[in-house]
Amino acid sequence: MDRPPDNPALKEKVQRLVEKRQTHLYHDLIYSLCQLDLPEVEAQKRWDEILKHKYWISEKLGRNVGIRVAALDYFYNVTQEVKYVTMMDVYQFQQAKQNAVTDWLTGVYLKNYFYTLLEKEIARAARLGEKFSVLFLDIDYFKIYNDTHGHLPGDAVLKEFADAVSGLIRDYDILGRYGGEEFVILFPSTEREQAAKVADEIRQTIEDYPFPGEMIMPAKTLTISGGIAEYPVDGADAQTLLASADKALYHSKQTGRNRITASL
Ligand code: GH3
Ligand code: MG
Ligand code: MG
Repeated sequence: MDRPPDNPALKEKVQRLVEKRQTHLYHDLIYSLCQLDLPEVEAQKRWDEILKHKYWISEKLGRNVGIRVAALDYFYNVTQEVKYVTMMDVYQFQQAKQNAVTDWLTGVYLKNYFYTLLEKEIARAARLGEKFSVLFLDIDYFKIYNDTHGHLPGDAVLKEFADAVSGLIRDYDILGRYGGEEFVILFPSTEREQAAKVADEIRQTIEDYPFPGEMIMPAKTLTISGGIAEYPVDGADAQTLLASADKALYHSKQTGRNRITASL
């Protein structure tokens, strides 16, 4: 049977439906092939062209060249949008990407990447009219631990601390290392009171956790202090929000340490 003739009205209807669903199918296809971040409509056009290109090269060579080779030839030789390419195993690439955003010692996100994720969360929460919370955590008198036991045992404590905290938060909470012994957690879609509950669980767990050599600490055990800020009341942008959490943390330090300040 012949193909039915093109129906422009139907085409438009489908296009409208696709737009409404906000699919990112072609964007994701192109991105996973060559890390180019194109708008969906543009990506769809390119995808069609790559398919044509694949067909054309395969005809010439008398064998199927595959979509990756076709995309590479298309972007490198035809459109020249990709100027410098290297071949790399995809698992190696993912590992390199992961290393670029995580701290080598603790395995949690680096400050820069945390900040990027925080800005994304602000955009998301603003769009949906949601609240969320951030928590700063800082180890109390950590200088004493380092000065007494040395930096390597200090590093081991930081790693154990980060592992313990990771085990206490949800998969979609985001843990970052903000500075030396200062960590920050983003709790998406979470109000202050709920974040304060989790924060106090973390505080209590760290107080109870048997870190090696912690008897020399002023409280005879390793403790942490924390400060919480809630979006948007404590800050509608990343900097203000973090400054509020930092102020709350400072308050915890000033009022005796081993405590969480949820609001000022
Ligand atoms: P406070 O209760 O006021 O936070 O006291 P503190 O001693 O923890 O704070 P201070 O900022 O004076 O010192 C932080 C110490 O943390 C300094 C350093 O000994 C230690 N530190 C920071 N980064 C690292 C790190 O990557 N590895 C190790 N082992 N120690 C670190
Ligand atoms: Mg400290
Ligand atoms: Mg500090």
